[in-house]
Amino acid sequence: MAEEIAYQRCINPDCAATYAVSEILFGCARCGDLLDVVYDWDRAALPRRLEEFEAAWTRRHDPLAFSGVWRFRALLPFVDPKHVVTIGEGQTLLRPSERVARYVGLKPGRLFLQYEGLNPSGSFKDNGMTACLSHANMVGAIRAACASTGNTSASLALFCAAAGWPSPIVFVGSGKIAYGKLSQALEYGALTLQIVGDFDDAMRQVQAAAKRLKLYLANSLNPFRLEGQKAIMYRVLEALRWEVPDWIVVPGGNLGNASAFGKAWHELRELGLVDRVPRLAIINAAGANTLYALYEQHGLRWNGGRPDMALVQRYYEQLDRERRRANTVASAIEINRPVNLKKALRALDVCDGVVREVTDQAILDAKAQVGAGGLGCEPASAAAVAGVKKLVSEQVIEPDDRVVCILTGHLLKDPIATVAYHGTDQKQFDAVLGKRGVRRATFANRPVVVANDLDEILRAIQLYALR
Ligand SMILES: *Cc1c(COP(=O)(O)O)cnc(C)c1O
Ligand SMILES: [Zn+2]
Repeated sequence: MAEEIAYQRCINPDCAATYAVSEILFGCARCGDLLDVVYDWDRAALPRRLEEFEAAWTRRHDPLAFSGVWRFRALLPFVDPKHVVTIGEGQTLLRPSERVARYVGLKPGRLFLQYEGLNPSGSFKDNGMTACLSHANMVGAIRAACASTGNTSASLALFCAAAGWPSPIVFVGSGKIAYGKLSQALEYGALTLQIVGDFDDAMRQVQAAAKRLKLYLANSLNPFRLEGQKAIMYRVLEALRWEVPDWIVVPGGNLGNASAFGKAWHELRELGLVDRVPRLAIINAAGANTLYALYEQHGLRWNGGRPDMALVQRYYEQLDRERRRANTVASAIEINRPVNLKKALRALDVCDGVVREVTDQAILDAKAQVGAGGLGCEPASAAAVAGVKKLVSEQVIEPDDRVVCILTGHLLKDPIATVAYHGTDQKQFDAVLGKRGVRRATFANRPVVVANDLDEILRAIQLYALR
């Protein structure tokens, strides 16, 4: 199907070069800018109303209807179904949380958590990986590589193992990757290169290595990956019975997710499938706040596709001069040079967006609330919740707005951050959290040490649980 109606196009309006979807590029060959996957939509092949997607629910034995990405494939028609690589990604859920609503200052029933931790590799990255590996399959490029703060490598490694492809090559910054994620890359058999440097270094190196060795790059500058991540928005809509929420709130790292969301809403509106779009809030960690600084403090805007890149360049030079490196407990968003910066500016433009930064203290406290409310996420995901709290306190978000936070990754991704927070080991607290300015575990649920003695055990239970 479809190959003739899908193509790649440079996002720079002064270039706008186009390429076939069969080309493996990861950047405009003429000007180096980011590429989009764009479509000459065949309206006859599209549902007239979003409700029509519900027909796929009755065909759960069909992998393409089962997948939370490919059941919406009419909205990402760049690949023939016979090339699709799917492992059952996107079986995620949207759940209201009264506890978290109270914590952030929203009225009951107004806060929803979109739990992407339920994906096969435990993060939203699987939505994108199924799409970019389907493209890789289509063009016959199955030796893949990525740089990762952890979840991209876990997802890529899992997909390649499941598909029986050669081991992917994953680049991680040394000492920067959470244990749950590292354990996945190793267990699924990826060649794991621990670069002596941070994510921004790994990102630069993987691009150079991919070019030399003709590896298929699975990072979010791959535009096909972002096509898959649009499906997170489709599932949010589906769970809200196709009613557009007031706000989508997402943590911002490399800004692929925010970019994909903006594209999803833009296309849905253009196709007449929604009559309005939600506002978008992108939340940075204060220790990795490039987008916040540029957008909210320096006034950088999309500007019709011509953002002031000289301003961005000066900002990066300043980071270098001050030797400022990204530093946050939310390792998945510990990124100072987001590759999708321009596309994120476009998403903010489409969705009348805002950007905020939140401290590691606020992130961990929000994370504990998410867990106590019956879900559980990794630190980066909780930045979205902390961001809502901030935006409600600023009266940017109103208490009865309908707000959807994207919980990007599973709690078990980063057990050390969680145990350091709840535990009683002061040394561990200092080493993991204290050094990042976290002063207290506001909502700690301390483990209780008790002698191997029934009377002592009963006493402890009386004291702590049956008071
Ligand atoms: C990758 C990742 C992010 C950051 O997403 P971007 O698309 O890079 O902005 C946030 N949270 C988790 C859990 C992630 O794995
Ligand atoms: Zn170009």
